Amino acid sequence: VEEHFENFFVEPDKISVDRVRFDGSEFHHLVKVKRKAVGDQVNVVDGTGNFYSTRLIEIKSGHAIGEIAKKQRRVGELAVSIQLVQGVIRHQRMDWIIEKGTELGVDRFIPLQTEYCQFRPSELKFQRWKRLARNAVKQCGRSVLPKVDDLPDCLRSSSVIFAHPLKHVGVKNVIEKMQQKHQQPLQSISLIVGPEGGFSDTEVEQFLRWGYNQVDLGQRRLRAETAAITLLVLTLEAIGEV
Ligand code: SAM
Repeated sequence: VEEHFENFFVEPDKISVDRVRFDGSEFHHLVKVKRKAVGDQVNVVDGTGNFYSTRLIEIKSGHAIGEIAKKQRRVGELAVSIQLVQGVIRHQRMDWIIEKGTELGVDRFIPLQTEYCQFRPSELKFQRWKRLARNAVKQCGRSVLPKVDDLPDCLRSSSVIFAHPLKHVGVKNVIEKMQQKHQQPLQSISLIVGPEGGFSDTEVEQFLRWGYNQVDLGQRRLRAETAAITLLVLTLEAIGEV
């Protein structure tokens, strides 16, 4: 983490070669909540991987300007892109997964409707999850805003892992095999976790037919959100990111 305080989030269209413009809620947060003043250092991310060290040079009634001192790429990001495909669960638990998953470096969240899902998220929920991801990015020192969408096209990727009990094969083992198969470091990994009711037999058969790799997360049946975080952490460990 570059600095031990929260980054500010400014959309790319408000950033020029040498200036960053804060307005709206980010301006409010900067000046009213954090009480920043002209001359203060402020770190800014734009959600596309750019990280700017800036110094405030102007504060007006509705906006502030920061002068860019240094620009860096992909601060706080993993070398491997990780997608988390989560069978939709109760929304507060989904909120939790989005927040924690963002902190752990997930690049893209895909809430997936599976056979045993009991909830269907509205468009408003997607907006809420995007907001939660944005706040988590600022707080944890990342520079890329993860996507939250329901297009599972990443599942065509060859490096897909799904968590389903009773296989007695761990994450590390599966990732080592995938790395050997590719004969180079993995660029992207998709992780799939079931909803509270788990995956149906048909879904498991389908996953196996598509060449997805099944992993076991231990002897106990974990709640979906515990499983998601466990699978993420074990993946980070296996690819050398923790
Ligand atoms: N009754 C369901 C079943 O037996 O599959 C339980 C589902 S569990 C509450 C929700 C999801 O978490 C599962 O679909 C799976 O993806 C993951 N999960 C939980 N415990 C696991 C374990 N010990 N090994 C692998 N995956 C697990």
